[in-house]
Amino acid sequence: MYEHYFDNIKKAKKQKNAWNSYLVKDFKLWLKHKRLKEQDYFCCYCLRSLENESDRVKHIEHILPKSLFPAYIFDAYNLSISCVKCNCDIKHNGTSFLNDQMFDVRSSWSYRVYDSNLYKFIHPKLDNINDYLTRDVKIVNKRPSYFYDYRGQKGKYHYDFFRLSEFEVFEINCLQGRVSSTPDSEASSLVAAIYKKNT
Ligand SMILES: [Zn+2]
Repeated sequence: MYEHYFDNIKKAKKQKNAWNSYLVKDFKLWLKHKRLKEQDYFCCYCLRSLENESDRVKHIEHILPKSLFPAYIFDAYNLSISCVKCNCDIKHNGTSFLNDQMFDVRSSWSYRVYDSNLYKFIHPKLDNINDYLTRDVKIVNKRPSYFYDYRGQKGKYHYDFFRLSEFEVFEINCLQGRVSSTPDSEASSLVAAIYKKNT
């Protein structure tokens, strides 16, 4: 229960580096477990499986960056689980995915930040990702690989912003032997299983 952690969150907020406070260690563990289950163990942005990945790869992601939006650090609607690539390599502390109107409500906490229209990409909590993006296995040159199908302006922006085409190219290169390792174990095991089935 989120409420169970309220007191410690409140105390941590008074500390300098609230997110890294020992007071919220249990909250973070609880949240990570809960969110991963809700997300079916997929990254909230690229939809790659995190199921067999190490804990270091599964990041608690602040959708509104915590450095620029400190009022939302512990908000359940601002927290999701993403892979390390989407969180650190791509999104990081950037704000280009926010519409300009977002900055009108930045100074103090406001429920108005939780409006899907303020986010150019697919918001993990406010949008249903399946409405805009799917990730499927397709057969290319008689071999299986992952591809994304995006829909609408949000889907297109999301696909470009998270550089999802890189995963598609990577998969093809893996299958053609141009690179020796896959970005996640999900890809290798699924591709191996399908390939075995088709031969
Ligand atoms: Zn990801």
